[in-house]
Amino acid sequence: MRVHKQGKLTILWGEKANCMERDHWQGSLHTEVVNKEPFVSFARQADFSSLVSVLQVHGTQIVKVESNDPLLFEQWFGTQADGLITSASGIGLMIRTADCLPLVLYDPVKEAVALVHAGWRGTVDQIVIKTLNLFKTDYGSSVSDIQVWFGPCALSCCYQVDQKFLDALSTVFLYDAVVKRGKSWYFDIPRYNAALLKKEGVPAAQLYYEYNQCTICNEIYCSYRRESGTESRNVTVVSLK
Ligand SMILES: [Zn+2]
Repeated sequence: MRVHKQGKLTILWGEKANCMERDHWQGSLHTEVVNKEPFVSFARQADFSSLVSVLQVHGTQIVKVESNDPLLFEQWFGTQADGLITSASGIGLMIRTADCLPLVLYDPVKEAVALVHAGWRGTVDQIVIKTLNLFKTDYGSSVSDIQVWFGPCALSCCYQVDQKFLDALSTVFLYDAVVKRGKSWYFDIPRYNAALLKKEGVPAAQLYYEYNQCTICNEIYCSYRRESGTESRNVTVVSLK
């Protein structure tokens, strides 16, 4: 696990060694999950006393978490959504990925943070823009203050896509996020999201890639592609002090 601490923000980047299995996130109760590993260890590394997540569906819904009510946590755990946002301290937001991109957006001025699950579908459907808009409307953020960390995901060194994928992409094609090598096409998820963020006014210097390793060619991560449909997930958790 890698730990990023900055001001009030903590990001925990989980790996295969502390992955989450399907049994832990499908059909389980929130309380059953958060009292188990890896979250007991995760909580020791950060400043959260409670943890909340959602039922990820490759959509663009984002849950706003401003309450410490355990009943709401239980409800959100079964809510179909792919992002979480908060300005409350002591609450861990959690997302699970295996090749999809975990994205952290942070406003150090308004002290709000979001964690987003962006696979190719969420990326193309622009969940990242929806998240930016929430910062503006609900927290009064200026886009120029937003900092963004890209987590481990499938990168264009390995993430081969087919013609069907390219056809689906064609209506919202952006910049050079599709890379051609030989006769094959590869999708660059971070580059596509970065292009959207920059277009909205997030400064390029505030997009951080130090944790953006390829999950397919780095075996320390769970990878849906490399492990042929694995049900293990890398976990990312963010919290505010
Ligand atoms: Zn790779």
